[in-house]
Amino acid sequence: MIDETHDPQLRSWVESANSEGCDFPIQNLPLGVFQVRGEERRRLGVAIGDFVLDAGAWLSGETLNGYLELPRTQRKDLRREVSRVLAAGAPEKPLFAQADCQMLLPAVVGDYTDFYASIHHATNVGRMFRPDNPLLPNYKHLPIAYHGRASSLVVSGSPVRRPCGQLGEGRFGTSRELDYELEVGAFIGPGNTPGQPIPVNRAEEHIAGVCLVNDWSARDIQRWEYQPLGPFLAKNFATSISPWLVTIEALAPFRVETKGHDVPILPYLRAVEPGGFDITVEAWLRTRDMGHAVRVSQASFKDMYWTFGQMLAHHTSNGCPMRGGDLVASGTVSGPDKENRGCLLELTWKGTEPVRLPNGEVRTFLEDGDEVILTGYCMREGFRRIGLGMCQGTIVGNGQV
Ligand code: CA
Repeated sequence: MIDETHDPQLRSWVESANSEGCDFPIQNLPLGVFQVRGEERRRLGVAIGDFVLDAGAWLSGETLNGYLELPRTQRKDLRREVSRVLAAGAPEKPLFAQADCQMLLPAVVGDYTDFYASIHHATNVGRMFRPDNPLLPNYKHLPIAYHGRASSLVVSGSPVRRPCGQLGEGRFGTSRELDYELEVGAFIGPGNTPGQPIPVNRAEEHIAGVCLVNDWSARDIQRWEYQPLGPFLAKNFATSISPWLVTIEALAPFRVETKGHDVPILPYLRAVEPGGFDITVEAWLRTRDMGHAVRVSQASFKDMYWTFGQMLAHHTSNGCPMRGGDLVASGTVSGPDKENRGCLLELTWKGTEPVRLPNGEVRTFLEDGDEVILTGYCMREGFRRIGLGMCQGTIVGNGQV
C-alpha cells in the first residue's frame, strides 16, 4: 500500500539522500548488517544516501532474522518511524559513512531455493539444447526450481574462486565456462507451519523484501552433471547477494501486473492482486584491463512469467515449511531481446557469439580477474527512484591449470 513514506516530495536531513539518481532516498530505507571498519561489533542499519543510520534503537541482534520474523504490520510501523526520524526537520542523529562500513550478509539463511521464473531465459536456454521444443511441457503450469545451498551464500564484494569439477567422462579439472546469472532474491519473513501451504493471495505477508543475487554457474560442470536431477556442483560453490534488504513496503509504488499466462493455471497459483514488480536489473563487466565496467545486459523483473507470490505458494503447496530468513531467488532475469539476456550463456549463445568489449577484448565466459557487478532500481513517473544497491564479485584463480 502506498502511504506517506512514499511521498516523492519527502526530503531527508541527510543531503546525499535527496540527490536525483541516489539508490537510497528516504522513500527506500533498506536494512542491512554492517561493521564499522576497525570495530568487531556487528550493527543493524538503514541506508540513507551515502550513509548508514544505526537501527539499534529499534532492532536488536547481529542479523536481520529477528526483523524478518516480525509480522508485516510491525515492519510497516518501523518504516514509518524511521521515515519520521530521517525526514527533513527532524533532529539530526549520528551516521556512519557507507565508505567506512563493511557490509555483511543480512541474515542467517537457513535454506535457499533457486527458481527458473523467466520464460525468456527458459526459452533461450531450451532453444540452445532442444531447438524444436525449447520449453518443457511443465513450464507454464508450475514455477520450476531446485534447492540451492545456503552455506555458500556470500555478500557482495567477496571474491569468487573458480571451481574445479568433473567435466566429462574421465575428466576432472578447472571450470573454463564460468558464468554469472543476474537474479532477484526474496527474503522470507514469517514462515508457515509444516503441512500448511501459504495461499497465493497471502504470500506477500511472508515476503520481507528483495535483494540482487548472482547465481555463479560453471556451465561445463553443469552440462555433464545436470541430468536427471538438475544443478548441483555447477552452482553451489558460491552465490553472491547484495547487502541491502529493500523492503516489500518500499516496492509498493512499483507493483505491476505480470504478462498474462496463455494456458490456464491451477487455482492455487491464481492471485487476485498484481504480483509483479517493475525492477530494472543490469549486469556490468570489468576485466583486469578495463578502467571501468561496461553494461552487458539490462532487463526488467516485470517480464518474469511467475511472481514471487506464485513461487512461494507453489513452494509450500505440499506443506513444505519456509522459515524467516530463507532466500528464494527468481532465476536468471532475461527479456525478449538480446540485450536483455541475464547471463553469458545466453548473451554468447553457448559461446558461439562472443561478447566484444569496448577495449577490444572478447569474452565467451568469465576469466580470472573479471569483475561482475549487478545493479537494480525502480523508477516510475510521480515517485522517487529507489535502488537495490549492487552485488559485486571478482573471479580469482584456483591455482590449478
Ligand atoms: Ca539460477
